[in-house]
Amino acid sequence: MAVPTLRCVLAALVLSACTAGSGPEPAAPESPTRPNFLVIDIDSFGADWLLAERDGARIAPTMTMLASRSQRFTRAISQAGWTLPAAYSLLTGHYPLLLNVVDNTHPAWDGNTRSLAETLGYYGYRSVAYWGHTSLGPNQLGRGFGSTATTEQGDYTVPLSAWIAEEPERPFFAYVHNIDLHYAPIPTAALHLYEPAIFGCTGGHLMTEEYEAIVGKVGDAAAHTHMVAHYEARIHAFDAVVADLLNQLGASGVANDTVIVLTSDHGEDLGDHVMYAHSVLFDTVLRIPLLIWDPTRKPGEVDTMVQTIDLAPTILARAGIPADRTMDGQSLLPLMQPESPADGSYEERVVYSVTTTLTSARTRTSKGIRASVAPGAGSGRRFYDLLADPGERHALDEAAPGAAALFAGLEAWHEERAIATGLVPRVELLEAQKKDLQQRGYFQLLDKSGTP
Ligand SMILES: [Zn+2]
Repeated sequence: MAVPTLRCVLAALVLSACTAGSGPEPAAPESPTRPNFLVIDIDSFGADWLLAERDGARIAPTMTMLASRSQRFTRAISQAGWTLPAAYSLLTGHYPLLLNVVDNTHPAWDGNTRSLAETLGYYGYRSVAYWGHTSLGPNQLGRGFGSTATTEQGDYTVPLSAWIAEEPERPFFAYVHNIDLHYAPIPTAALHLYEPAIFGCTGGHLMTEEYEAIVGKVGDAAAHTHMVAHYEARIHAFDAVVADLLNQLGASGVANDTVIVLTSDHGEDLGDHVMYAHSVLFDTVLRIPLLIWDPTRKPGEVDTMVQTIDLAPTILARAGIPADRTMDGQSLLPLMQPESPADGSYEERVVYSVTTTLTSARTRTSKGIRASVAPGAGSGRRFYDLLADPGERHALDEAAPGAAALFAGLEAWHEERAIATGLVPRVELLEAQKKDLQQRGYFQLLDKSGTP
């Protein structure tokens, strides 16, 4: 796929009057209560990579452009280190523990929790979900959607405009999830984007054997350079998908009636700690990008710490649909410009997150991680001073200032969320599923479950 030019993308968003850096004036809110929603959920996309550069050029130029036109939330934190619990939080507004899901071995959320797609459908919205892997199918990410489809890894065609054209008079909710940032071969279409030598492997592809040889070399500078180059190439390749989606909105004539959310389920730990993978609760994994482009709002940066569970309440509020008061999250509209008394207020809260056997509590200055099994951690609790140690290199004990209160809150939250319902029994993975997970960076975790 050819990379659409920035001018094309700007035209698609009908922002031709905007000049770089100054941002557009908000458009008149002609029909603010029934906008369309496009949510782009880029799997394993860490917050620091959104505006990153290589050799003086943006890795993701389209997303950089979109960020300059959007509300960019600079402290967005994920609810989980795995795809399914994080995505479920986005799609329900609930903590994963309430859904009895902590990792991908729980195939579907428990109970009668209504999804965002179901609620929007009740109020007349059409909905479609596209996901990037067959294991994330209609009973997982597609739950409650009117239409569902799998996009093959490396196949960057998302037929959004054709779906919109089927019933153009109804507002829609489209969810696009893509898994191409995982440790898979770089799409052929992206090979020309980087010098082959930077990959240090044949043809620019990261083959399974090469990955397995590298992934254990945490602390090896050459391996790190290699893995980062691959990661950046995939981000660069997916940036063209974002451009294509924006162009499809423009071609469908709905660009100025559509709110665009761009985020990720979780980030990626590129050898920064104990592995090349996610499924841990370090900030490399929990800090995610979050952009909301809204034709009725001004662009800007929001420093308030927000969470994945806030997105579903935000979409309901923006659609003019009464709030689901059972949701754990809060609407982000009060943080967006221009301010409106009708948006209410937003309270910055402690962020609670989960992975296989760990839970964490994070404020803007500190983090506590609670482990059922934490080898070498003594009590099974670790505390990080995020101001003095943003890289989370030096775990402190429970005597550190602020630690006791944070852990007390975490314990209370854990008791309330987990003990009351009990986790859904895990499914037994098939050998093919295990192999698939191993090739995506999980084999260490499968062998040493609980290692943070
Ligand atoms: Zn994921």
